[in-house]
Amino acid sequence: MKLFFYNTLTRKIEEFRVKTSKIAKLYTCGPTVYHYAHIGNLRTYIFEDLLRRTLQVFGYKVIHVMNITDVGHLESDEDSGDDKIILSALREKKTPLDIARYYENFFLKDCNSLNLLKPTIICRASEHIEEIQYMIHQLIDKNYAYIIDGNVYFDVARFNNYSQLSRAKLHDLSSNSRVDFDHRKKNQKDFVLWFSNSKFQNQIMRWDSPWGRGFPGWHIECSAMATKYLGEYIDIHCGGVDHIPVHHTNEIAQSDACFNHQCVNFWMHGEFLILDKNKMSKSKNNFLTLTNLKEYGFDPAHYRYLCLGTHYRSQMLFNFESLKMAKSTLESLKNRIIDWKSELKNKNADKSIAGKKKEYLNRFYAALSYDLNIPTILSVLWEFVKDGEISVNDKLSLINEFDLILGLGLTEHIKPELSEYLIQLIKKREELRKQKKWNCSDKIRQEIENSGVMLKDTENGTDWYLKY
Ligand SMILES: [Zn+2]
Repeated sequence: MKLFFYNTLTRKIEEFRVKTSKIAKLYTCGPTVYHYAHIGNLRTYIFEDLLRRTLQVFGYKVIHVMNITDVGHLESDEDSGDDKIILSALREKKTPLDIARYYENFFLKDCNSLNLLKPTIICRASEHIEEIQYMIHQLIDKNYAYIIDGNVYFDVARFNNYSQLSRAKLHDLSSNSRVDFDHRKKNQKDFVLWFSNSKFQNQIMRWDSPWGRGFPGWHIECSAMATKYLGEYIDIHCGGVDHIPVHHTNEIAQSDACFNHQCVNFWMHGEFLILDKNKMSKSKNNFLTLTNLKEYGFDPAHYRYLCLGTHYRSQMLFNFESLKMAKSTLESLKNRIIDWKSELKNKNADKSIAGKKKEYLNRFYAALSYDLNIPTILSVLWEFVKDGEISVNDKLSLINEFDLILGLGLTEHIKPELSEYLIQLIKKREELRKQKKWNCSDKIRQEIENSGVMLKDTENGTDWYLKY
């Protein structure tokens, strides 16, 4: 079966092809480690994880590279404002390196708790200054960059089709009022490859260079590291939609100018998460982190499940009502799976109608292969979960296959152990029920349920599940 993805570059859904047989080279823009990731950022990484899992399920060996921006990203995505990490260091009275490593660790823990597959290579900008400088040299040699007052700028006018990804008009781009005027630039849309003689005299993380002691611009790190680890042909490059107008537009200009050809085949972008009608943004100070969600009693898996319900190219409206719904849906699915497993132990698996399982699998692959239609996959999942014509055995095997993509760890769920105290209470209640002492048994039931354990009276005795 073929794979089809929406390519931002062409604005079309296209058949996915790789340059090297059965190897998919994937680059995903990583975090700027100056603050906790908000759940909007994490939504993008979940989308990239779904993409990576899909490529693997379709038989590709995926080489996945993700960068960590620990220097050079200014407040604006363009060349204005202060360095985000330096600002955090001043705020928290720590060194920039301490800030960067602290938030990097936190970010990687968040990824782990969301069950995101770890990239093959995670690379930090500050550890690739040599590669970055080498690329800048090449751009200067090829006349795509110019040096002025110790800064190096990419000359946008020299690069044909600069706006191919954003499709913005050049004069629209240069009228961006958020960006400070820089008299050194030939064109205000030119962007910095290397800062040395800039307004950032207090920059702590600086390196020697032929153009002056300084630090790289943000965009060049991705071009330098992507091509170092993946070569000059990259199958897919991803990020959030906010990267389209500046960061990815500049990456294309740098890489394609350096190698004299198109370096990235597919550009894929995840849409925003919208919180109370405002874009989630740290700068507006109205953002939620995974830790916040945990404090409100949600597991990372509940958030992951919520994200699966909205296609990655649609904006996702976040509120706690929908997160609660996601939690109870996922928990009820987990309880069903636990029931199926014990059913399997207690009796022989019943028979399925031939071909039904295959039909569900076909629908799964069809939805997955057409631009990661995960919401459809969830509805197919709930159809077979409730389908009385297929066996528990088949249901468990379908759950296994679906979960390779969904990444919810569905089959790993086992019935949590109860404390000895609760086990004794359940036994006592069973005794009282045999003696038809309903009032007393109801009181015990209430006590057990107050501790979060729900009871179910069955032919084989009392069963229980966790309240959600
Ligand atoms: Zn990037």
